[in-house]
Amino acid sequence: MGPKRVLIVGGVAGGASCAARLRRLDEQAEIVVFEKGPYPSFANCGLPYYIGNAISNEAKLLVATPELFRNRFNIEVRTEHEVISVNRGERKIEVKDLRDGSVCEETYDALVLSPGAVPARPPLPGIDLEGVFTLRTIPDSRAIRAWIQESGARNALVVGGGFIGLEMAENLARRGLRVAIVEMFDQVMPPLDREMAEYAYTHLLQNHVSVRLADAVVRFNGSDGRVTAAETRGGAKIPADLVILSVGVKPESRLAKDAGLELGPHGGIRVDETMRTSDPHIWAVGDAVEVRDAVTGGLNLVPLAGPANRQGRIAADAICGRPAQFRGVQATAVCGLFGLTMAMTGVSEKRLRQAKDLDYAAVYLHPNDHASYYPGASEMHLKLIFRPSDGLVLGAQGVGGQGVERRIDVISFAIQKGSTVFDLEEAELCYAPQFGMAKDPVNLAGMVAANVVRGDVSLARWNELPHCSAFLLDVREEEEFKRGAVGAAVNIPLHQLRKRLSELPKDRPIWVNCARGQRSYYAVRTLRQHGFDASNLSGGYSTWEVWYPKGLPPGEVAQAEQTPRDRAA
Ligand code: FAD
Repeated sequence: MGPKRVLIVGGVAGGASCAARLRRLDEQAEIVVFEKGPYPSFANCGLPYYIGNAISNEAKLLVATPELFRNRFNIEVRTEHEVISVNRGERKIEVKDLRDGSVCEETYDALVLSPGAVPARPPLPGIDLEGVFTLRTIPDSRAIRAWIQESGARNALVVGGGFIGLEMAENLARRGLRVAIVEMFDQVMPPLDREMAEYAYTHLLQNHVSVRLADAVVRFNGSDGRVTAAETRGGAKIPADLVILSVGVKPESRLAKDAGLELGPHGGIRVDETMRTSDPHIWAVGDAVEVRDAVTGGLNLVPLAGPANRQGRIAADAICGRPAQFRGVQATAVCGLFGLTMAMTGVSEKRLRQAKDLDYAAVYLHPNDHASYYPGASEMHLKLIFRPSDGLVLGAQGVGGQGVERRIDVISFAIQKGSTVFDLEEAELCYAPQFGMAKDPVNLAGMVAANVVRGDVSLARWNELPHCSAFLLDVREEEEFKRGAVGAAVNIPLHQLRKRLSELPKDRPIWVNCARGQRSYYAVRTLRQHGFDASNLSGGYSTWEVWYPKGLPPGEVAQAEQTPRDRAA
């Protein structure tokens, strides 16, 4: 038998990394990559920054050229060649040369599908007007740049406030455009829990981006074939001479489906742990496949560059007969927004609730990224989700300035290794005052959560606040309390608590808050040892502000009560 012939469909993240790994493992194999676009191996993640001029030289987006593939790796890359069908019985593909329309057949021993995903384009009236764009490729970004320049666009509308939408909002604002976002959900950045996304929402407003939440574009209006405005379900008319549609992506699984390969429940290509499809000679990787969620065990679409690259390597290993296994994904991701960092890993509280899995708890903390005595320290907001029965770490979200992504990366790795909150308590992380704290935010998160698992403190759930019958106690100083309170909480500063225990009820739960959750933890410890049923409102007033930015919903008054002393007065 001659050398193995491996054909790869799609020459960017997953396809290119698979090709390069294959060559490192098998010097004899014949490797051919088919890419329907004009460029292989380009930096899709850099496209918003190219539009925003943070990257000014387009050539910088080309990570590797066909010449480099040929000269360095002896890999043939055929750009502007679309694979149009797969004949599994004869192990052949049909390839169309997009430059002249000719079609040829190629045989394979192994076929790798890495065709990526396509941006969703909802069939709205006016969607085909000039000035309405999606963003996936270098030509897309070139067209958006040209439109800004040539049309003199002033008002940009970004439809969808997820990763690409937010990155585009920032970059268009940097180009001097007035930017509006319309988002269907009641929050931006849907993978975050709503209260954590509140920081991003506020930050957008501070940066003069207008945001309509819980609304949807229903049509685009135009003049002379060019977009001029969008109308929303909520009745708003938003002027727009540039529209970016960023309402999600769909796995590009048409080729696989037509070839009779099994698809998963979300329409992505079904693969096993070695990235092999239902056909033993075909592998698939990247945005087109469904992957196992490492935390929930369910199948999911996770269109991110890291998993695509790792899967490409795994498929190459498997094709070369090496033992390799993809461990699944935790959807670890990060997004920048006007200097704010949002990072996340593992499962969110929202997803757990949707799955009706209530064996979880969440703690909030608001530590500085580095020692507060060293100049430039900034606050970050962390949420850690874990299983209270055994302390298993399930997920984490962080929003803030510097150092957020580092903490989420550490927790991501902890999740991958099946770690508990006790492991986070003990994690040994590097420290010097300009970089962190001797008790790093990761350690602190572990400690706060471990207190819950050990039973030293119980948690009050923020989402239950509007309907709770608990007595709300605020242990901040009077001056702090005067600036605002959690619902109708009663103020007894921590240093007075032991002397004023008689003012507190023993016949109902007491939910305690302070500014950030530390003093309330001390208070809960004191109260529990005096026989009170006390729980901590984790993260304190800082967390209240994002859970209930407009206060409690009308008609919901959490504990409009007085202490016995107030009543006597
Ligand atoms: P792709 O990289 O999209 O490659 C698929 C290629 O296959 C395409 O070039 C396509 O032309 C080609 N193709 C499709 N069908 C055929 C066919 N029939 N024949 C031949 N060729 C075909 N991820 C992150 O983790 N972090 C980020 O910051 C980030 N930012 C992003 C910003 C933008 C604007 C975009 C669009 C994506 C971003 N992503 C980011 C997602 C990341 O780029 C993708 O997850 C990753 O590229 C997926 O790799 P892939 O190989 O599956 O698909």
